[in-house]
Amino acid sequence: MINIAIDGPSGAGKSSLAKALAKKLDYIYVDTGALYRAVGLFVRSKEVEPTNMAEVEKLLPLISLELDYENGVQTVYLNGENVNEKIRTPEMSMYASAVSAHPPVRTFLLDLQKNIAKKHNVIMDGRDIGTVILPDAQVKIYLFADNESRAKRRYEELLQKGEKVTLESVLEEMNLRDHNDSTRKTAPAVQAPDAIPLNNSQLDFEGTVDAALEIIGKVLGK
Ligand code: C5P
Repeated sequence: MINIAIDGPSGAGKSSLAKALAKKLDYIYVDTGALYRAVGLFVRSKEVEPTNMAEVEKLLPLISLELDYENGVQTVYLNGENVNEKIRTPEMSMYASAVSAHPPVRTFLLDLQKNIAKKHNVIMDGRDIGTVILPDAQVKIYLFADNESRAKRRYEELLQKGEKVTLESVLEEMNLRDHNDSTRKTAPAVQAPDAIPLNNSQLDFEGTVDAALEIIGKVLGK
């Protein structure tokens, strides 16, 4: 199977890029952030503090997660319920970031991610795909952009969804989340040594897709 890993900070456009690449290449797009978000959602439903590792760990046996793919769209089922919409809020971004720092949570989600990549050609996006989940991925891209570009994109995305946010709050939340993600002890969000960096601060969406396709073509020799 061919595995393509896309890592990078929040708001760099990983999921839009990965979705477009998956469609072009006819691979499955696996959004791993959605898994951490779903764990966060369950933790909140039990009114547990997401930073409390011992309490979060106790909840893990009560969680069943399934991923389903139809027409390139991933659906996450949390204990049988489709939670695709509920997990896409700024609050769930912060819950996901908090629970994702706990090693038991990362271990809990490990096999699910690895198994999909064993069975399918995948484009998987996240924070530790090239370093921990798929260290042998044939292609690894580290997608990033400057803080302002990333915050602006995320802000516009949230506005479109009707979320009441300000550019300042989005920038602050993003910086906090990136700091948490990149400084945690387990599987920190860092560039894999063999990942190819792609800075899309000055690129529009098509430009980013083209640049990524060029990298993939070169690495896979196509
Ligand atoms: O990518 P997304 O913004 O949906 O991820 C939400 C959070 O989940 C991230 O901020 C990060 O804390 C966590 N995450 C992670 N490892 C991944 C994917 C996401 O720790 N592979």
